[in-house]
Amino acid sequence: MSLSEDIKDFGLDLGYSKVGITRADSFPEYITELNGRRDMYGWYIDGVFQPLKGAEPKNCMSTAKSIIVFTHDIFKQAFPENLTGKVGRHYQSRANLTVRHRINGARRQLMRDFLEKNGINVAQRVVTPDRMAAARAGICTYGRNTFAFGDDMGSFIIIATFITDAELQYDEPTFETKCPPKCTACIDACPTGALYKPLKMNPLRCIALNTFMTQENYVPGVNSYIPPNIRETMGSWLHGCDICQEVCPRNQKKLKAKLAPDEYLVKVANDFNFINLLNMTDEFFAKRVQMLMPNYIREKKYFQRNAAIAMGNSGDVSYIPHLAKAMQDSEEIVRGYAAWALGKLGGQKAKQALDSSLPRETSQFARNEIETALANL
Ligand code: SF4
Ligand code: SF4
Repeated sequence: MSLSEDIKDFGLDLGYSKVGITRADSFPEYITELNGRRDMYGWYIDGVFQPLKGAEPKNCMSTAKSIIVFTHDIFKQAFPENLTGKVGRHYQSRANLTVRHRINGARRQLMRDFLEKNGINVAQRVVTPDRMAAARAGICTYGRNTFAFGDDMGSFIIIATFITDAELQYDEPTFETKCPPKCTACIDACPTGALYKPLKMNPLRCIALNTFMTQENYVPGVNSYIPPNIRETMGSWLHGCDICQEVCPRNQKKLKAKLAPDEYLVKVANDFNFINLLNMTDEFFAKRVQMLMPNYIREKKYFQRNAAIAMGNSGDVSYIPHLAKAMQDSEEIVRGYAAWALGKLGGQKAKQALDSSLPRETSQFARNEIETALANL
């Protein structure tokens, strides 16, 4: 058996679903696309991810010859209903975690160890254009919702890439969009217009990115402020958004399959409600939120903000006492978004909570939110 076959066998044995190999050539279409949409992707281009560098593999590793690409089907077990519509399935799966002491990070590390034991050097910490690499390695096709799809898996997949210096056997690309010819279900369903035409998504309008990208000092040019028009469209999403994948006919087989529960997720989901999240303790954040999503939302105040927005969008006035309590939180961001939610829910009790908070409010941001909420009541 060839080294390429050995690598593929080892990857499948580790639990990856498909393995493909492509040359370590650059991705000129990706570079052109990103540079042409700097107004939407400036935060990504200039941030820690350095995607333009990763699109030129030989700039990351001068001896690079191949990119080994793995897909991981994250939909082998059922996702709990009480997390559906709140947390995107990619995040629930924890499959994009890279920390080595947890199973998904350990899988990547085991793959890296295997390559290195076989005398192959692997580039360190490079963000490659994963979806394009997977199509070039013949293991994914594209969807008009911009996601990569694996045959028989749909778009609920995670892609892992390794740039190496090994000359291997290369697979035939699958650069195609296998969507039904007239389907626009994903574009029609996107509540924010982020998906504005086939294969084009504006991340600044995407709910998923607004739930976690909006943290201070997280990515260049983006702060924690979520504009009211985006808040309104976030519905119950706390982290991520699956709408353009849920409506997709290519995902229905997975979405309708009868699968065994993921017992860990079931346990987490029982505690994962808006009330627990809005006024959470540090312990709850560490044991429930961060165990699920340690590499995105870094401080609990952003999850509290998202819970406040979800409560405001729910129309459920039973949340008002919890939002009133949040008006005493030590973080201005929590108080400000709780004020917005109280304004959305409306009614006498919401007004009382806002009125009593205003005199003691010291933050200009939170004051503005309280005053706007009161003016709209
Ligand atoms: S994830 Fe949600 S907001 Fe983003 S493009 Fe898809 S449907 Fe639109
Ligand atoms: S919803 Fe339709 S157009 Fe969009 S990705 Fe799925 S099949 Fe393609």
